[in-house]
Amino acid sequence: MRWSITIGSFGGTAVKIHITFILFLAWIAFSAWSRGGPAAALDSTVFIVLLFACVVLHEFGHIAAARRYGISTPEVTLLPIGGVASLQRLPSDPSQELVVALAGPAVNLVIGLLLVAAIGPAHLADLMQIDNPSLSMISRLAVANIFLAVFNLIPAFPMDGGRVLHALVAMRVGGPRATEIATRIGQALAFGLGFLGLFGNPLLVFIAIFVYIAAAAEAQMSAAHESLKGVSVGEAMETRFTPVSINACLGQAVDALLATAQHEFPVVDAFGKPVGLLTREDILSAVRKHGGDEPASAFMRSGVDSVRPATPVESVFDRLQGPGSAALYVTDTDGRIVGLLTRQALGEVMMIRAARPDWRFDRKA
Ligand SMILES: [Zn+2]
Repeated sequence: MRWSITIGSFGGTAVKIHITFILFLAWIAFSAWSRGGPAAALDSTVFIVLLFACVVLHEFGHIAAARRYGISTPEVTLLPIGGVASLQRLPSDPSQELVVALAGPAVNLVIGLLLVAAIGPAHLADLMQIDNPSLSMISRLAVANIFLAVFNLIPAFPMDGGRVLHALVAMRVGGPRATEIATRIGQALAFGLGFLGLFGNPLLVFIAIFVYIAAAAEAQMSAAHESLKGVSVGEAMETRFTPVSINACLGQAVDALLATAQHEFPVVDAFGKPVGLLTREDILSAVRKHGGDEPASAFMRSGVDSVRPATPVESVFDRLQGPGSAALYVTDTDGRIVGLLTRQALGEVMMIRAARPDWRFDRKA
């Protein structure tokens, strides 16, 4: 995310603070100062910093759970509205989705209960008076953590509760239908929240609008999946593409870049089998440091997946979503490349489906 400052890295996840969060802290300090002087400013600022530390721990709950299923998280960014963990992908198995979604609120619940235990049962009644300014910092943090756990479990996207609901529905009816049902429930809930908000709490109206928009984005993602239904990789793939020979030099890769409209170039051996992939960015970054005589294959990325033409596109859609996955090879039974499945190709399938929902992709002209 742009305008973010990295404050550290923990277990492969960079923790970043967005500039708006720093402005938000300044605003909190300033408004507390004008009400109660420097002591109030310090108290409010420390409270907000500790609260957001709990939010980061919440995100690390999700991150740790996702890592158990082999999903890494390159970064987590702190915004005034909370933390955003950029998971490499969402778990496709509902039971994994459920565990990852619950892990965040569970962290806040544990912190909240530990703090309550620290305060001691004698002061439990204090927790009910969150507005009382003489309440201790620990008591306020305890209440805030329990609130965070409950608030995040509201069953609507983008709250964790929305993911929990989606996972539970998906266990019964399967992915695409589950997204539709979870989205509907989330939007209905947003309407309800907004309606309640009109009678008193304007903040609730904002949350409702936010939830409604997030649910719509989720529905769009689900529609993308839907429009790829019934289309095979062989029907969607690019068949007119220029490969780069394994013996080619960087200059020849640049020539291929100029001569075609391609952004992804498979590097193939003498038998036409793919050995790596060069993207436009790979070629450009190589050219920045080297002349044209180096072997092009020195700059290619390996580990690109091969898929077969008969594979349903929908089942490989997720593999093209990550930042590092530009294209997939399509190979025949001998392992020779016969096509290239790119994000652009998938986009074109979706456009044709949008223009003509009954279009048959298996009819070859
Ligand atoms: Zn969460």
